Amino acid sequence: MIAASMPSPIGHALAGLAASWAVDLVPGDRAWRTAPASAPWFRRAGDGLTLACAALGAAADLDHLFLTHRAATHSIGAVAVVGLFAAAFAARAQRPVARVALMCVAAYGTHLVLDWLGVDTSVPRGIQALWPLSHEWFISGIDLFPRTERHELWTVAAMAANLKAIAQEVAILGPPAVVLWLVRVKALARLPSQMARRDHAAK
Ligand SMILES: [Zn+2]
Repeated sequence: MIAASMPSPIGHALAGLAASWAVDLVPGDRAWRTAPASAPWFRRAGDGLTLACAALGAAADLDHLFLTHRAATHSIGAVAVVGLFAAAFAARAQRPVARVALMCVAAYGTHLVLDWLGVDTSVPRGIQALWPLSHEWFISGIDLFPRTERHELWTVAAMAANLKAIAQEVAILGPPAVVLWLVRVKALARLPSQMARRDHAAK
């Protein structure tokens, strides 16, 4: 019976968002991801691709719709599929293939890490992280993230448990996300002026 999961979609989306910002900091072709300080915050945050990464952070739990929770969707096999689709999408959209693929892989991969670090009381515990190479289930036992209820959501007990779990997720994942945002604003703000100087020097 699949009655609970860990962590909530909010925690997973926050981790996906943070992963996309972290990959944005990798040196290389970043100019297409910059926006001036005067741009709307959505553009400065990295617009649709960042949003897609937040969704990818939570996407693995779509397996709730089927009855095989935390199996193939929570594995390196699924991460590889996401990377291939992201690379194909980036190539079509004429975006840097490696960076877009890495962003999507990192965002999706955070889901595996968070679930591995979470509480799981349903047997078999954990995730089938190495599928299709192995069908073994893995869990850290660290219990960093409490479980969340996804059935009978509107009972007082479920709502209280979920609010507490979400507060803990935000307390753990929020600070790194805020730091990444602040570093992002500083690092990406320098790029246009750096490029302008370089282009000027090349002339
Ligand atoms: Zn999951």
